[in-house]
Amino acid sequence: MRIVLLGPPGVGKGTLAGFLKEKYDLAHISTGDMLREEIKKGSALGLEIKSVITSGALVSDELVTKLVQNKIEHDLDLKKGFMFDGFPRTVTQAVDLDAILAKVGAPLDFVLNLDADFDVLLKRMTGRRVCRKCGALFHTVTKPTLKPGICDLCGGEVYQRPDDNEKTIQARMEVYQQSTEPIINYYAKQNKIKKVDANLEAAEVRLAVAVFFK
Ligand code: AMP
Repeated sequence: MRIVLLGPPGVGKGTLAGFLKEKYDLAHISTGDMLREEIKKGSALGLEIKSVITSGALVSDELVTKLVQNKIEHDLDLKKGFMFDGFPRTVTQAVDLDAILAKVGAPLDFVLNLDADFDVLLKRMTGRRVCRKCGALFHTVTKPTLKPGICDLCGGEVYQRPDDNEKTIQARMEVYQQSTEPIINYYAKQNKIKKVDANLEAAEVRLAVAVFFK
């Protein structure tokens, strides 16, 4: 299966991706993770990316699409399934992704469109904690680490993403509505949208999504 996980920040794309990776052996392509890796390198480009992410805006289509294109053309087993998380985020990216995938003969099967109410998203994002080392996701209320600040899986340091504060979250939501939501219509025209109610608990979301893999 080749799919896109679409939905506002905090809707649970990363959590669902972790599950789908295990259950269906799908490669997980998260542009947010790729950009954070670039920041870790401390390069000039990384610094530029950091200031964009911290503001809640989007990194340029050119840069993000180039990262994804490189991954698809040089670093992905196309015989296996894969899923995009946080990409595409604009209609331009969606059009370019279709072109890149057409070129390698691996078009998308469907798009999971996750949605949840704003107060649910806000709670998920402000409580979200991430392992710096392995990327595992936790939540201060719904999935706390066993030892404070320490990843249950690898012992790495668990931190709060600097863009998970209320002010940046507000900006990210606006960007989502303006730039990303129109993608739903783009894929609806291709008949590829599968709607998922992500107000539900993670386990229920998994059950709802499993239907699409039968
Ligand atoms: P995420 O980890 O998916 O929430 O992404 C964190 C931040 O990285 C976003 O708020 C954007 O600033 C940037 N980003 C991630 N993916 C993209 C993308 N496809 N296009 C532009 N910016 C992106």
